[in-house]
Amino acid sequence: MRKKIVAGNWKMNCDITQTYELLDQLKEKELSDDVEVIVAPPFTNLQSANQALLDTDILVAAQNMHQVANGAFTGEISAGMLQSVGVSTVILGHSERRAMFWETNELLASKVNTALENDMTVIFCFGEELEDRKSDNHFNVVKEQLEEGLYHIEAASWSHIVLAYEPVWAIGTGETASPEQAQEMHSFIRRTIADKYSSDIAQEVSILYGGSVKPGNAKEIFGKPDVDGGLIGGASLKADDFAAIVNAFE
Ligand code: PEP
Repeated sequence: MRKKIVAGNWKMNCDITQTYELLDQLKEKELSDDVEVIVAPPFTNLQSANQALLDTDILVAAQNMHQVANGAFTGEISAGMLQSVGVSTVILGHSERRAMFWETNELLASKVNTALENDMTVIFCFGEELEDRKSDNHFNVVKEQLEEGLYHIEAASWSHIVLAYEPVWAIGTGETASPEQAQEMHSFIRRTIADKYSSDIAQEVSILYGGSVKPGNAKEIFGKPDVDGGLIGGASLKADDFAAIVNAFE
């Protein structure tokens, strides 16, 4: 059975003091045992977060990494560096990386390869822009992002992949895809994986929804059969809200 996952993308928020405070608050919460809980603080706080969470089941992920092992890449962080501080999960392809840091599907394909070679789990983000949806091109855009960024990997590597469908128009905007829109896209994604790989792989991969998930809408979205959890931005910075979202599965 595929995993239920709720991952918090803290983006460029929380210094070290705030990181400890938020994690302390989270550790006080009762979190459903059925759900894998992940937090992704900024690079500077990964090691501290990992240590603070050692006595819990909460995992720590990075928000990005470089595709090369080391060298003259000022300001970048490699997979080996993440592994060396105990982080073996990485978010790749977030829409903010695609839009503000010019990450292309081709670049992401190479980051995915590096992550897999380093035994990491990838939370692979993708999703259409508002114009794509308005022009009824959203399925094509999503398919292309998957084909170019991910569908070169071997079947065996899918056990290291989590998908995060995040319509760009719903990220940080307060506007969410309706549960029906999320379900429609998630089931489309699963079909494309079944066509390219196998229905076993398609059924096993967790597909998270991301885009203004809040305690008030999580239950309805997570109630859809092809939605296996969420990638949470803003609401992951409040322990009460994040815990309520984790516990929103029926
Ligand atoms: C995100 O950044 O991945 C995200 C979904 O943000 P928000 O929940 O704030 O829309």
